[in-house]
Amino acid sequence: MNRSVLCVDIGGTSSKVGILDSAGQLHLIDSIPTQPDAASFVSYLCDLIARTRARAGDAGHSIAGIGVAVAGFVSGERDRLVYNSNLSWLEGFPIKSRLLERFSLPVEMEVDSNAATMAEYRFGSGRESKRFLCITSGTGLGVGMTIDGVPLRFAYGCLGDIGHIIVQPNGPLCTCGGHGCAEILVSAPILARRYGATAGLREVIDAANASDPLAITILEEAGAWLGIAIASMANTLFPDHIAIAGGLSAAGDYVLRPAERVFRESASIFARSNASFTRATLGTMATLIGAAWPFWEDRNLHGESRTG
Ligand SMILES: [Zn+2]
Repeated sequence: MNRSVLCVDIGGTSSKVGILDSAGQLHLIDSIPTQPDAASFVSYLCDLIARTRARAGDAGHSIAGIGVAVAGFVSGERDRLVYNSNLSWLEGFPIKSRLLERFSLPVEMEVDSNAATMAEYRFGSGRESKRFLCITSGTGLGVGMTIDGVPLRFAYGCLGDIGHIIVQPNGPLCTCGGHGCAEILVSAPILARRYGATAGLREVIDAANASDPLAITILEEAGAWLGIAIASMANTLFPDHIAIAGGLSAAGDYVLRPAERVFRESASIFARSNASFTRATLGTMATLIGAAWPFWEDRNLHGESRTG
């Protein structure tokens, strides 16, 4: 019997649960809305986990533990969310201890951008990379980096809030309170609003694919802003491989070409000449898959647990 991991992805609008087997395949994926009341949401989430665990048992999965990815900054102990302006009602709630009380299984929490990065490192576009930078561009701009397969953490479990690197002086007001951040210039809702789309970023991408010039311009400009942000990140972090994941990457070359062109025009010669650049390959399930990563290899778990 293979050891599988019960994966949870707590996102801003919906939360997913699934079973990841040892070959990297997801099973029994289900989701619930992320409701703005911490106690009832976590209780509801536990019920979904219990149902999924029972179904996994019926299907022959042996569960090694529960891996939880959450959008936002986490505590130093990685047991609760400490900041996400979209999930402020969940801040400070003891998510990990509630799961430990309810289920007699090990529980590990991870920041969503790190989870997505670890999934791409293990199963997707970051395989073989020693210093892998993974940029997830959707509603927000999440950035993770692994060094030899271990997430790089500066503060609050993650790589700071590098998606808010400033790329346009005196630019638009960002949700973080700053101005001209990369995130606000490439945010899916902002791009959809610029186009007048009622059905979100997907509508803009569909219009671009139908040769709509406004949609193409909006996506290309977003790609260029992303390229500037990536150039600054690369000059600082020296990745050997960079992957673009998330909803914006579904725009394909409309975003990726200008992003790579601007990156290669703007970054230092040393940084750009030592980094390859691709679209991520796992799609929207990367965060759910990567929630399992602490259970993949004991050596990584123990090695990285010593760092802040
Ligand atoms: Zn910002």
